[in-house]
Amino acid sequence: MARPWNFSAGPSVLPEAVLKRAAEEMLDWHGSGMSVMEMSHRGKQFIQICDEAEADLRTLLSIPEEYGVVFMQGGATAENAIVPMNLINLRGTKSADYVLTGQWSRKSFKEAQRYGDVQVAAASDSATVLGGVEQAAWTWVPQARDWHVRPESAYVHLCSNETIGGVEFVDWPELASLGAPDTELVVDASSHFLSRPMDVSRAGLIYAGAQKNAGPAGVTVVIVRKDLLGHALPICPSAFDYANVVEARSSFNTPPTYGIYMLGLVCKWLLAQGGVAAIEQANIAKADLLYSYLDGTSFYRNPVEKSVRSRMNVPFVLRDASLDAAFLAGAQEAGLMQLKGHKSVGGMRASIYNALPIEGVRALISYMQEFERRHG
Ligand code: PMP
Repeated sequence: MARPWNFSAGPSVLPEAVLKRAAEEMLDWHGSGMSVMEMSHRGKQFIQICDEAEADLRTLLSIPEEYGVVFMQGGATAENAIVPMNLINLRGTKSADYVLTGQWSRKSFKEAQRYGDVQVAAASDSATVLGGVEQAAWTWVPQARDWHVRPESAYVHLCSNETIGGVEFVDWPELASLGAPDTELVVDASSHFLSRPMDVSRAGLIYAGAQKNAGPAGVTVVIVRKDLLGHALPICPSAFDYANVVEARSSFNTPPTYGIYMLGLVCKWLLAQGGVAAIEQANIAKADLLYSYLDGTSFYRNPVEKSVRSRMNVPFVLRDASLDAAFLAGAQEAGLMQLKGHKSVGGMRASIYNALPIEGVRALISYMQEFERRHG
């Protein structure tokens, strides 16, 4: 059976080698006579699987010792509430600031408003002119020097890759240089997690749903500096108090065991590829190929400001939207799956995560060229 090229934004393509290994180990993990799904989360076999996944993740991202790494449930959406419940009163002020660059950061902001004095530090929610080019709302990133971070705020939150809009932060600012030296940076890195190196020490907390680059749906990775723990609001459920989860090494209650195992296999696959620095080079090559094709034709268009275009999620529209349905039907026939854009923005979106080989991008471009020849 030929696997199609899968451009889904998540859950999304996984490395074939990882799926094969999981299949081989399905009935009998390492001579245990059991599937990982059947193991106690308190048994030494699963503890070994979980510890290795954590250790490999630490290696991949050079996560410093003073950070806890935990696997939780509830997705990034639950983290939108869990983060403020844990951190908003870190300094006794119940205040936090949010940078809005698209739908996901806006959702995070709205959820956080339930827990304290939550304000917008900066937003790309309206059109602007950058380098002489008019940029529509949600297609650009406000410069850090224009952020209004209140020095008393517990943290400032950003979404470092907007999965729907296709906007990616190139790096994260030093908050000290913004006049808020005691404010922590909190990052939703869900959709570019493990696609490039990141400076964990810049952030107080990073969270990511696994179902894009790191594994199957059902696992959420949280990386948190341990000195931030222990300030949860009294309403915070104990299973969502990071202090408890870090202390229990992800097993405060039954964790998503099979998902953690799969995430561990993905980490091992990444290490075998040469780590995140190597996968970043492959991701740059894939993204460059697709964006340069898009920029060379007026039949298709990506609206995002060039310096912040996502390497993972590439939205594009057809000049003539009445051709959208024909484009998608033909793509499906050509084995190119899940190219429909998010319902809120329409058009198309190609998610080109770590596990999608460059051949998949080449196949997409050939199809797009052919479609343009027929309809342009
Ligand atoms: N943040 C980002 C950047 C996302 O891409 C998504 C899911 N696409 C979410 C948050 C929400 O994740 P979940 O559905 O796992 O809660």
